[in-house]
Amino acid sequence: MAFDFKQFFSSLGKTSEELGEKTLVVKKNRCPQNHRCPAISACPSGALSQRGNAAPVVNYKKCTSCGKCTRYCITRALKMERA
Ligand code: SF4
Repeated sequence: MAFDFKQFFSSLGKTSEELGEKTLVVKKNRCPQNHRCPAISACPSGALSQRGNAAPVVNYKKCTSCGKCTRYCITRALKMERA
């Protein structure tokens, strides 16, 4: 599939909301908060942290919205959602 230059340049300057991009959301009610979150060590950007066994917290300055961490949460407490 060819790269769509027209779509790429028309997207420049738009916010992630305007582009319909997804953002990582922590669903605290789905997290049992009784274990070390396995997604923390899976994040390539070091964007997740955890205090004790609480639900993980996202540093949105570091998060690239790659979605990798969502594959490590078996309760699906980490979800990518549209802004
Ligand atoms: S979406 Fe990617 S960068 Fe963001 S917290 Fe998850 S693994 Fe890290």
